[in-house]
Amino acid sequence: MSEKWVPFHMPSIGEEEIAAASRTLRSGWLTSGSKVKEFEAHFAERVGAKHAVATNSGTAALHIALEAIGISEGDEVIVPTMTFAATAEVVLYLKAKPVLIDCEPATLNLDLEALERAATSRTKAIMPVHFGGHPCEMDRIHEIADLHNWGVVEDAAHAFPSKYQGKSVGEMSDVTCFSFYATKTLTTGEGGMATTNNPAWAERMRCMTLHGISKDAWNRYAATGSWYYEIQSPGYKYNLTDIAAAIGLEQLKKTDRFLAARKRIAGLYDEEFADLPEVRRPICPSYVEHSWHLYVIQLDLSRLRITRDGFIEALKKEHIGASVHFMPLHLHPYYRNAFGYRPDDFPHASALFTRIVSLPIYPAMSEEDVRAVIRAVRTVIAQYRR
Ligand SMILES: *Cc1c(COP(=O)(O)O)cnc(C)c1O
Repeated sequence: MSEKWVPFHMPSIGEEEIAAASRTLRSGWLTSGSKVKEFEAHFAERVGAKHAVATNSGTAALHIALEAIGISEGDEVIVPTMTFAATAEVVLYLKAKPVLIDCEPATLNLDLEALERAATSRTKAIMPVHFGGHPCEMDRIHEIADLHNWGVVEDAAHAFPSKYQGKSVGEMSDVTCFSFYATKTLTTGEGGMATTNNPAWAERMRCMTLHGISKDAWNRYAATGSWYYEIQSPGYKYNLTDIAAAIGLEQLKKTDRFLAARKRIAGLYDEEFADLPEVRRPICPSYVEHSWHLYVIQLDLSRLRITRDGFIEALKKEHIGASVHFMPLHLHPYYRNAFGYRPDDFPHASALFTRIVSLPIYPAMSEEDVRAVIRAVRTVIAQYRR
């Protein structure tokens, strides 16, 4: 048994991020300014999008994205049930209705047949979530969306820097939203980004991140600006700080290194769990680049004398932190009560929820940490094998 605790996640913040944040703190400009502009430009370039709008969270990015493409009261937006709270709540912010759909077991991404079945005359958009960083089948999703004239807003909170058929997540849909929350593949503590190729939507989102006013503080208070501004719409307070953007710029430079580290860990897990029939490993077909934000195993409970929760407790006793992504939305009290969802409405997601375990996967893990996780999983399986 290893003595050292391996946490479920640790952010990779180096001296570069600390120095960059310090420089910004000393610069006299803390809120959205030149660092945010620079971060937006570099991020857009990295994902191949024409425009990027920085926000103070991924949730904020999803909210302004739906607003920009015109989602409003009474509209329906299709959302996979296997996701985080944010994806569906932003639909409710706009008084529209999130229509949940089931996932498919191999990737935990949305089920394409369920997507077609969920269509009604009120459907206005679909929000694919790239679960754990595995890109959804975007060609099929765009085909279906185009046929019905739906908007596509990708929840790419897990999917930087993922690719699908050679295209980056961030350049394919109406709007793509990223999260820079502390546990994500690129972090600014809190933060987000919305990318689009549509200049009008970019402009609308930019305006709505800052009270719906026509000019941001940079344009008003910098030496070249003027004090004058106009309120175009009752917007939100969703702008990112320059402190966060300075951290993000340093994180962005490390993207390839971080991805290589995650891939290596996923590869080791794949290899070392291959002979365990109790463990279904995540898949990664050759036409996708997986960001490996999460490494989610599915336990075959029929082969084990332990529940998923018991499995996580047993890992904890082996000094390994693990987690669950996610309890599907339809099992939460709000969605049960407000929409009358029952567990059997989404049989895949309900069944998978009892079997999924997210293992640690992040660049700050040492080789020893990865070996400790592998040992612990094998020990617990051996202990509870039927
Ligand atoms: C993290 C996350 C978000 C929201 O991100 P925040 O930056 O925390 O607002 C949205 N969707 C999914 C699937 C997430 O995991």
